[in-house]
Amino acid sequence: MTVLDLREAWSELIERRPGLSSSVHAYGRVFEAWVEASPPAAPLGWTEEDCRRSWANGIPLAVAAPPDIASAAIEDLLGLAMEIVGGVRDDAAVALGRLAEQWDRGEVTPGSLLATPGRVAALPIPGLDESITAFLAIVALRPSLQGYLDACRAHLRDADWDRGVCPFCGAPPGFAEVIEDGRRRLACHVCGGAWTFRRLRCPFCGDDATRNLGRLDFEAPADQGYFISTCARCRGYVKELDQRVRWNGGPPLVEDWGSPHFDLACVRAGYQRPAGPVILAG
Ligand SMILES: [Zn+2]
Ligand SMILES: [Zn+2]
Repeated sequence: MTVLDLREAWSELIERRPGLSSSVHAYGRVFEAWVEASPPAAPLGWTEEDCRRSWANGIPLAVAAPPDIASAAIEDLLGLAMEIVGGVRDDAAVALGRLAEQWDRGEVTPGSLLATPGRVAALPIPGLDESITAFLAIVALRPSLQGYLDACRAHLRDADWDRGVCPFCGAPPGFAEVIEDGRRRLACHVCGGAWTFRRLRCPFCGDDATRNLGRLDFEAPADQGYFISTCARCRGYVKELDQRVRWNGGPPLVEDWGSPHFDLACVRAGYQRPAGPVILAG
């Protein structure tokens, strides 16, 4: 089982962006904790044919066959995520307290945090907005889901999936990359999956009318290679890294958590995304 270790990539990003606010450094604790976490879910033993049948029906693998994750296996990670949120979001204190009680009573379980297509964490948690719920799901589930799904990654071909949600777990994309050959690859933070997607299409509402699709670029040398794709129809946005311009970028989650200033610019311009950042500081 490969260990999920993003610590070095995160350190490199922090070095590259010395201006990041200190609250963002709290994410480093997640990367530390993931190295210690042993993925408890047994791998999904599906064959190539099993996977492709599910994709042909438009169903992400972990939606068709949800992993059985024990509460005890992710409790420490969930606790850490709640602690980080509590440190930056005063408005969430009451709801987090309630969530801790619901977790102890077994009313909220690992299954509550699994995605349904297009939505991180199927079950809305009262009082917590979607960005917080998404953060809890990512931190608590990523090692387990990666262990569950990694063996199936190689079965995915470009032609198997053209939807704007993760073919492996169903979550909406958290970041995008333009790879060397010019294809656009969307990345899922919840399970670590990635899939190619048309360049000129909104992953959230599927619109491909060019008049609705916009692009924000950044002037600062440190931001070269990054851009944001926006959609005037659903007001969604996704941050992207063009690897042909910047070759030393980090993994999508590291890039996403390390660029809250891009999100701030988008929010100010009236855009939003399904699982936006929990720390929105420049
Ligand atoms: Zn996923
Ligand atoms: Zn859209």
